[in-house]
Amino acid sequence: MTKIRIDEGARIGYMQSGALMAEVEAETIKYGLAACAGLCSQVSIGGYTLGGGLGYSLGMYGVACDNLVSATVVLANGDIVQASESENLDLLWGLKGGGSNFGVVAELGVKLHSQRPDAYAISYVYLPAQLETVVTTINEWRAVQKQHETVCMLVSLGPDGNPYVILNGVSNSAQEEGEAAFRRFLNLGPVKITNAQVPWQEVVNLGNAMNTIPKGKVFVGAHIDSFDAPQVQKSWDAWAEVSKKAPFSILMYEFYPDKKVHEVPLESAAFAQRHPFVTVLCAIMGIDEADEFASHAWEDLLNLKRIVSASSSQAAQDSLGYANYGDPFSTQNETDEYARKLFGPNYARLQEVKRKYDPEIVFDRWFAIRPTA
Ligand SMILES: Cc1cc2nc3c(=O)[nH]c(=O)nc-3n(C[C@H](O)[C@H](O)[C@H](O)COP(=O)(O)OP(=O)(O)OC[C@H]3O[C@@H](n4cnc5c(N)ncnc54)[C@H](O)[C@@H]3O)c2cc1C
Repeated sequence: MTKIRIDEGARIGYMQSGALMAEVEAETIKYGLAACAGLCSQVSIGGYTLGGGLGYSLGMYGVACDNLVSATVVLANGDIVQASESENLDLLWGLKGGGSNFGVVAELGVKLHSQRPDAYAISYVYLPAQLETVVTTINEWRAVQKQHETVCMLVSLGPDGNPYVILNGVSNSAQEEGEAAFRRFLNLGPVKITNAQVPWQEVVNLGNAMNTIPKGKVFVGAHIDSFDAPQVQKSWDAWAEVSKKAPFSILMYEFYPDKKVHEVPLESAAFAQRHPFVTVLCAIMGIDEADEFASHAWEDLLNLKRIVSASSSQAAQDSLGYANYGDPFSTQNETDEYARKLFGPNYARLQEVKRKYDPEIVFDRWFAIRPTA
């Protein structure tokens, strides 16, 4: 389920849902085009697009699900249906954000956009003592951030077991422009510097460290609208505690230019996370299942999430976090209450679509919608 077919004239990529980001990027760039792919090479286009889809092209083209133009779906009764502007439009609407609910999406048709062959990428590593200046500098940069620039700040243990602040950034531009955009981060004096103009299909490798995490992991998304050094420091302290037990744990603050996401009317797709919050991935990873810690890792994760957003508005604190950072191994996001909150004003319409395509609730994973009676 990894085949990719490009309709160059129509600028649509037909992708089987198991195609990995690395494969998507490598294939589309042959035509000077790109899909709205995610940050990590080994994630599939399927679940990523059906639940939202945040990546380096978000500033220019919005979330991946807003770029979904068609889908081939195998329903629970075995019927194979098409969803597009001209067929089963209600299903296409639901798949854009609520896509785990209606059937197995075998193939997605996604918009492709002109893409330059290369982009400027950085990965800078800083010492813990530099955290405050990194936070301040990110906030300064955000005031002038361009639509083609994305930066992610991670707190993580390095290969030597010591904690570091890591800044990964991509400017989808020529080298000179990227260097100018990110110079302020270089001027902070990172202890490790990697920067280069790289082929576009290689930018997904910036997230490769996430691909090979051994042992157990739990994920949750947080949302913030205050990125301030004191709260980031408190979050760091909480992260450092869990890292003693789960050494691959990370916090990743993701700074996308998200105007395009907000411009889309809420009712135009099931995806309802169009608020002006910064996404933070809270991940406890490398859990030894035999350790007593494993029994309360989920509670520790939710506590970490609370601390991350504690200085933000009540709306941000109450947010479930980015839908696709829900934990696939937890049943917390399979309740009606969860889906109702996640989809907000779009939930009632989703219940109608659910009743039409999966009334028996065969597809009950990820963010499960209950059909109208
Ligand atoms: C290492 C890593 C990096 C990530 N990076 C990003 C990122 O950069 N941007 C981002 O937005 N998200 C990211 N995510 C989150 C990611 O979007 C979700 O985990 C997403 O579900 C992955 O898609 P998948 O096809 O691998 O889904 P899977 O993990 O295989 O499935 C998750 C759920 O999605 C549903 N699903 C999957 N495929 C289909 C299908 N074909 N038809 C119907 N339902 C389906 C099912 O309900 C399934 O339970 C990352 C996750 C990981 C683990």
